Amino acid sequence: MAEHNFDLVILGGGSGGYAAALRAAQLGKSVALIEKDKLGGTCLHRGCIPTKALLHAAEVADTVKDAAHYGVSANFNAIDMTVVNTYRDGIVDKLFKGLTGLVNSKSINVVKGEGRMVGPKTIQVGEDRYTGTNLVLASGSYSRSLPGLEIGGRVITSEQALQMTFVPNKVIVLGGGVIGVEFASIWRSFGTEVTIVEGLPTLVPNEDASVSKALERAFRKRGIEFKTGVRFSGVQQHENGVVVSLENGETLEAELMLVAVGRGPNTAGLGYEENGINMDRGWVLTNERLETSVPGVYAAGDIVPGLQLAHRGFQQGIFIAEEIAGLKPAVIDENGIPKVTYCEPEIASVGLSEAKAAEKYGAENISTYEYNLGGNGKSQILGTAGFIKLIRQNNGPVIGVHMIGSRVGEQIGEAQLIVNWEAYPEDVATLVHAHPTMNEAIGEAHLALAGKPLHAHA
Ligand SMILES: Cc1cc2nc3c(=O)[nH]c(=O)nc-3n(C[C@H](O)[C@H](O)[C@H](O)COP(=O)(O)OP(=O)(O)OC[C@H]3O[C@@H](n4cnc5c(N)ncnc54)[C@H](O)[C@@H]3O)c2cc1C
Repeated sequence: MAEHNFDLVILGGGSGGYAAALRAAQLGKSVALIEKDKLGGTCLHRGCIPTKALLHAAEVADTVKDAAHYGVSANFNAIDMTVVNTYRDGIVDKLFKGLTGLVNSKSINVVKGEGRMVGPKTIQVGEDRYTGTNLVLASGSYSRSLPGLEIGGRVITSEQALQMTFVPNKVIVLGGGVIGVEFASIWRSFGTEVTIVEGLPTLVPNEDASVSKALERAFRKRGIEFKTGVRFSGVQQHENGVVVSLENGETLEAELMLVAVGRGPNTAGLGYEENGINMDRGWVLTNERLETSVPGVYAAGDIVPGLQLAHRGFQQGIFIAEEIAGLKPAVIDENGIPKVTYCEPEIASVGLSEAKAAEKYGAENISTYEYNLGGNGKSQILGTAGFIKLIRQNNGPVIGVHMIGSRVGEQIGEAQLIVNWEAYPEDVATLVHAHPTMNEAIGEAHLALAGKPLHAHA
């Protein structure tokens, strides 16, 4: 048994873990980064990046199908999944090489292997023990299923959906959250018949209600079917497909069923609880400074309850490294974390929804404004519908921005600055937005909320 000592030992080399490693190395700490698979974790290899590559291929397919509308002669023939997958893997490989080079260029010791916590500050990998002055737990998440619903064969999760070598004719997507609507969008653009089944009353139920409604309208128009407020009761597989039964007695048939009902914390059997870490149903509990119940042991990313997003993991990793180095970083405001759903049309939001804002401040103390992209030149050129909805405290700052429309994800940067810097609509209204850009719609929305609309139709 060999013993190794470091300032910082990190379990998991995904978004949370590698961000902590890079920042700690910058701050002069010695770091052991333990990873059993590939640096980059879910986001790079099985999440954000590969899905967005497929969504881009989907956008190209839609553009070709719609080319005649712009006077461009082109024929859409088929999707060649071999080429789509080569393109996707090329992007992932390039980023993986970049990340590996970055990590190797710093004083970070990457340990390849499966780690387990065996002491309050110690992780064991095979016959080696790594003890840190501090420990960071960042073991990530896995695709959850429902009780009694087994994954296998024609019942798949996002991992298998990303590895498919063919375009299915018909798919049932169980779950209308972010992952579900992104795959529904990809497959529809590739020519698949898609039905989403969501137990809650709307698609993307974590978004502002008006955005959910707008997405449902847009999906209906795109021929994506969905059943909301109805629960799944079972699935049977046969040689050529699946038969899915719903609690309302309905049955649906398809070639495949994608289970996209959320992600659970990957913590089972890793020795956390045995070593005194406070947990709740598998989640690692921390205080607002991301420290667990064991002093000096921190947690980052998807194992910590909250938004499961890569950029939250990055920020938490940076925070922890700075905290350990004594820099006293500002606590991360979970409510200020931007969210983007990359289906077509895209959804981007930051801050409070109208319902949450009304609950927090009282409906009479907030105002909202919805700027329709119909008044935005660039959106008309791109042929997208949608809106930008602002929520402000009366005589106070903007506390929520909610957007839907093609490419609105690219507008989230300004929206998150506005919300996180607590800007007033009157402040933003004085800033000049370039014409014609989609970004201009953010300027227009603030002009209107400040009482001086320009290209806004009542
Ligand atoms: C289909 C899909 C699409 C997504 N799209 C987006 C998106 O567009 N934008 C976004 O922000 N987020 C997206 N996410 C979420 C994002 O991927 C996660 O929030 C992010 O990866 C979480 O980072 P993490 O470090 O907590 O965990 P992970 O990235 O899961 O990393 C954990 C790492 O720990 C390693 N590990 C686990 N246990 C051990 C062990 N015992 N020993 C050694 N190593 C171990 C794993 O191999 C893994 O590499 C998506 C997720 C999915 C599934």
